[in-house]
Amino acid sequence: MFTLNHDGTLTGMYDIAIVGAGPAGLSGALIADSVGMSACVIESGPIGGTVAKIGHVTNFLSDATTGPELVERWERALEATSVELIRDHAEDLDPVDDGWRVRTLSGAEIDAGYVLVSAGNRWVRLDEHPLITGVAADIDVIDFWPNEYQRILDADRPLIVGSDRPLGTFVLTVAEEWDLEASAWPQVLVLPDKAYALSDVPADVQLDLLWADTIDSIRPDGAGYIVEYSHDGVSTQVQASDLVPNLGTRPNNELLTEFVAVDDAGYVTGDLPARLLIAGDLVQPSHRRIATAVGEGAHAVLTAYYEAGELL
Ligand SMILES: Cc1cc2nc3c(=O)[nH]c(=O)nc-3n(C[C@H](O)[C@H](O)[C@H](O)COP(=O)(O)OP(=O)(O)OC[C@H]3O[C@@H](n4cnc5c(N)ncnc54)[C@H](O)[C@@H]3O)c2cc1C
Repeated sequence: MFTLNHDGTLTGMYDIAIVGAGPAGLSGALIADSVGMSACVIESGPIGGTVAKIGHVTNFLSDATTGPELVERWERALEATSVELIRDHAEDLDPVDDGWRVRTLSGAEIDAGYVLVSAGNRWVRLDEHPLITGVAADIDVIDFWPNEYQRILDADRPLIVGSDRPLGTFVLTVAEEWDLEASAWPQVLVLPDKAYALSDVPADVQLDLLWADTIDSIRPDGAGYIVEYSHDGVSTQVQASDLVPNLGTRPNNELLTEFVAVDDAGYVTGDLPARLLIAGDLVQPSHRRIATAVGEGAHAVLTAYYEAGELL
């Protein structure tokens, strides 16, 4: 709660600060407002998180059938609350008396009794994958979001690096919306760790698959890139106008690692400290859906609500 100072400034703390305005964070924010908790949501990207970029949604209870339609409804719902939306990047967390302080990129310090981190996932970068070495410093990539599909198809000679599950989503979406000739499909460089996910690609789509055991260098070349890879001891080069990493995702856990143990993939394994909560895609890799994120965000905030009630 806030106090109005003599100089007109406000001091005080929110009951809960939520990092990330994806479905987990927004659901938490609406629940917080509905039970009378003061809340803010800190978001550095699009409202709706990943959902803002999904072209088709058929497995979430709503009359909306696309991500942007869902997000439009969620934005209206948020506007009708007293939750403060803070457009900033949460950089750091510190324990303070009776809660947490969130420091942001712009230098703000936001105090709250509870913090819910619902920061989702990010794509694995080329330079952090164990089978990829020799990545030059200045590599630009296209993220494999549905709202980038047209850009990928328009590129001269794009190369999808890795065959994780978003490849299946891409193929299905593109096959439905564009009548592509076989030669128009991007090349895909398949590394062994995600080769299993090729089963998501319909058998009648003949992708140009390049099989690699390792990728040994990625460097700029003119307007594009040269990728050197090895398979069965033979080294080969491929040229690409654009690179689209598809190597999996990692949880956005930067705010948490100081306070809790994480596994090799970056997911939280240990107990969280008091008054720190997590929800949504960054919790575990297996349940990543809109519905589960919405449920977890609501569950986390209600947990804080009842716990705070007992503390008072
Ligand atoms: C291509 C694709 C298609 C999908 N299709 C479906 C589908 O059809 N149905 C379905 O149920 N699920 C689908 N999903 C999964 C679904 O989108 C996710 O499970 C869901 O969005 C997770 O919600 P979240 O709130 O945990 O994270 P996100 O939606 O990722 O939101 C996290 C938010 O946190 C913000 N953030 C991160 N770090 C910070 C920080 N430090 N400071 C401020 N803000 C921060 C991010 O900008 C982001 O907006 C799909 C996912 C993808 C990638």
